[in-house]
Amino acid sequence: MSVHTSAPRRLQSFVCGEWTSGTKDGVPLLNAATGAPVALIDSTGVDFAAALEWGRDKGGRALRAMSFHDRAGMLKALGLKLMEMKEEFYAESLATGATRADAWIDIEGGIGTLLTFASKGRRELPNTRVLLDGDVEPLSKDASFSAQHIYTPLQGIAIHINAFNFPCWGMLEKIGPNLLAGVPCLIKPASQTAYLTELMVRRMIATGILPDGALQLVSGSVGDMLDHVGVQDAVTFTGSAWTGRKLRTHKAIVENSVRFTMEADSLNASILGPDAAPGTEEFDLFVREVAREMTVKAGQKCTAIRRVIAPRSMTEALAKALGDRLGKTAPGDPSAEGTRMGPLASFDQREEVRGRIKDLQAVAEIVAGNPDDVRVSSGDATKGAFLNPVLLYCDKPFAADAVHDVEAFGPVSTILPYDTLDEAVELARRGKGSLVASVFTNDKAVATEAAIGLAPFHGRVMIGNRLSAKTSTGHGSPLAGLVHGGPGRAGGGEEMGGMRGVKHYMQRTAIQGAPRMLTAVTGVWVEGADAQSGVHPFRKSLAELQIGDQLITAARKVTLEDVEHFANFTGDTFYAHMNAEAAKANPFFDDRVAHGYLIASFAAGLFVEPNPGPVLANYGVDNMRFLTPVYFGDTLQVRLTCKEINPRANADHGEVRWDCQVTNQKAEVVAQYDVLTMVAKVWPTA
Ligand code: NDP
Repeated sequence: MSVHTSAPRRLQSFVCGEWTSGTKDGVPLLNAATGAPVALIDSTGVDFAAALEWGRDKGGRALRAMSFHDRAGMLKALGLKLMEMKEEFYAESLATGATRADAWIDIEGGIGTLLTFASKGRRELPNTRVLLDGDVEPLSKDASFSAQHIYTPLQGIAIHINAFNFPCWGMLEKIGPNLLAGVPCLIKPASQTAYLTELMVRRMIATGILPDGALQLVSGSVGDMLDHVGVQDAVTFTGSAWTGRKLRTHKAIVENSVRFTMEADSLNASILGPDAAPGTEEFDLFVREVAREMTVKAGQKCTAIRRVIAPRSMTEALAKALGDRLGKTAPGDPSAEGTRMGPLASFDQREEVRGRIKDLQAVAEIVAGNPDDVRVSSGDATKGAFLNPVLLYCDKPFAADAVHDVEAFGPVSTILPYDTLDEAVELARRGKGSLVASVFTNDKAVATEAAIGLAPFHGRVMIGNRLSAKTSTGHGSPLAGLVHGGPGRAGGGEEMGGMRGVKHYMQRTAIQGAPRMLTAVTGVWVEGADAQSGVHPFRKSLAELQIGDQLITAARKVTLEDVEHFANFTGDTFYAHMNAEAAKANPFFDDRVAHGYLIASFAAGLFVEPNPGPVLANYGVDNMRFLTPVYFGDTLQVRLTCKEINPRANADHGEVRWDCQVTNQKAEVVAQYDVLTMVAKVWPTA
């Protein structure tokens, strides 16, 4: 049952800490399946300049005061709260035309994306406010002048202008990264489905989890907002290429070099490999995937398969198999039990799609479906924006620009035949840059050639076959950890991609100076910075431990007996440790050498403090390098320095990274690595 049985509600904007209604009557938004009015939208009277300033000042300041882990915790709390309220969003979503399965992608997919950013932020970012990028760049021989790249949050606001097709996911996949980065945001959803975004923002604000100014919403037109964007702001856009181009060239965006991410039309392709003939598992998987991509969200998905590229000899069988499958998917009322495909978002949108199908018919013939003959499985065919799936075939795809240019944003795809794999890849590239392409093959050579040929023109390439059939997330699913965006026609933008998406809202800066200054700025010890000795640093809890706390150990000689004992004990009898003649013949060694892992083990024996204490566990090493061979009779000594301290939120311990340098009697560095430990916040524990 739809929740929209009473008078349409007036949508409000949330700006400058208040919910406000527009001053005009508002434009009615209609239920996609029934045509009933759902809401009225209007943003007249909103002071857009003040809203941007409110976000930058209030929200930015509060978010920047938090560490990455604080912000990750905030996203997690928010995501969990939204999940508790999900049924309310599902009910509201029916009016957009989304079936339960469609709404799952938008609602739970969106909340899941927010939660993934929360958990990746906790695991992949430090519990600090400055993020390091890469290693220290030594700029002087005596380590008195070095450089470190750092990321800091932009001090502006992120403005997200979104499309109508994913009112929840479209917002959540964008705010996860900007909030984690420490940047506030303002959402401008597409009017057509803004009532669902408004409801979710209303619930998010009511939780009180977000600081004031971190999240604002404009329901309706953005008015003169873009005139007020400044040098530290970022604008993201999802929608039509036409609007995108207009916004990208907006005077204030150009003059202030405002970061502008665009995700627009994308003629995504899927290739059936030459090996995937009818009767193979890949052929069946391909048919299922194309049909699914055409009908999920009634094909109103930026990643949907628009071009179906198949070996010429297989196109007839393919058209038949797809036609049969699509024929079973009639659109219907999304609230009715068993409806597999809902209507398009609006009558305007259906007319738009019918127009695009006509454009395609100039170069292609319809082989399944009829855009003018609506057959519904439920609901009233005259009241909803229903459209049955339409499959076309274009016999000469190299001579038909329209199939590579015209995006019919609905349940519409065109089959394009190819004669060689090179041709298939070339056809996919004719889309002039897309969000995603896929290839279905069980042949490694086909997969390699296709993936490498497709990659420069796509943000994501999925290889489908029998091995991943059960676990594949599919052609059309953007994932929080993977890049979403594509070059050229797809807009040239890049969203998500795990922490890559977070960095989009941060500025990378090279900081140069004396190491002690770099350490002061970053909070991470670097070679040449101050170090202090005293109590063994393993005796110190996080409450006492300081960056630069250092231990210089006693020295230990490495003998032939040690190496042979280690070799026989572990089974590592590699010739370079055991056979002098063979070792000497090796270009790297003058004689038998000690095992690298023996050096690391001796180093641990030298630096460890054996008694129960605040160091709780050793959980690994990073960047281990064995730099100089260790021969029998050499003497090892370790310098262990506290490099980075990451207290964990809501836990009684944190991570400590130690710089570990092992030298020989000639002061040559024989091994260098980071030792990773868990250390108690206080010791003895209460
Ligand atoms: P639009 O480009 O018209 O709108 C996208 C967003 O931009 C909406 O929020 C819209 O707001 C806003 N907008 C429109 N004009 C302006 C302006 N002058 N200044 C600031 N914001 C503006 O796209 P639609 O959502 O209507 O979709 C149209 C077509 O775009 C689809 O048929 C499809 O072809 C394509 N599309 C592509 C997608 C993709 O990711 N590849 C996703 C969605 C659509 P408002 O709604 O209030 O006008």
